[in-house]
Amino acid sequence: MLQAKTNEQYAAFAHEIEFCEKDIRKAEDRILDRMAESETLEQNVKAAEAALGQEKQQVESEQRAARQRTAEDQQRMQLLRAEREKVAAGMSAQILSAYERIRRARKGVAVAEAVDGGCSACHMALRLQFFQELRISEHVLFCESCGRIMYFNPPVEVGDLGSALHSNPEAQPVEDTR
Ligand SMILES: [Zn+2]
Repeated sequence: MLQAKTNEQYAAFAHEIEFCEKDIRKAEDRILDRMAESETLEQNVKAAEAALGQEKQQVESEQRAARQRTAEDQQRMQLLRAEREKVAAGMSAQILSAYERIRRARKGVAVAEAVDGGCSACHMALRLQFFQELRISEHVLFCESCGRIMYFNPPVEVGDLGSALHSNPEAQPVEDTR
């Protein structure tokens, strides 16, 4: 301004100053906008961090529960394997090998109950004579349709429960749902 020699020069400087001040205000406004934006972003980041923390805790607790379940299942599996070995050792080799053969051929189900005169696995009706034999026979019998080992649970009479419980205190009354 001090160097301005003429009115025209003075006006030109004043105009330029005004122009620069406008730019400065614009820049300041942008800075304020950005600050407001960054505040919102920071809040979002904090909220996301908190959510992530919660999610991590949830996942960790689920992992702990799953590990616990797996440990329990493995323990149970070991017990069942030991029990199975004990049972298998008490079976005749012939029946055991028949059982294993049928189990492999029949998707793991080698034994079927006779229900309502039929095989509960393949649902074919049993011959009456076969069914009678199954009820009284001491031998292992195989379903004539699917080849599975058959067993028959005689219906429990209510009157028998008392004496059964007496002779075996661990016996539980069996509900006949058929
Ligand atoms: Zn069958």
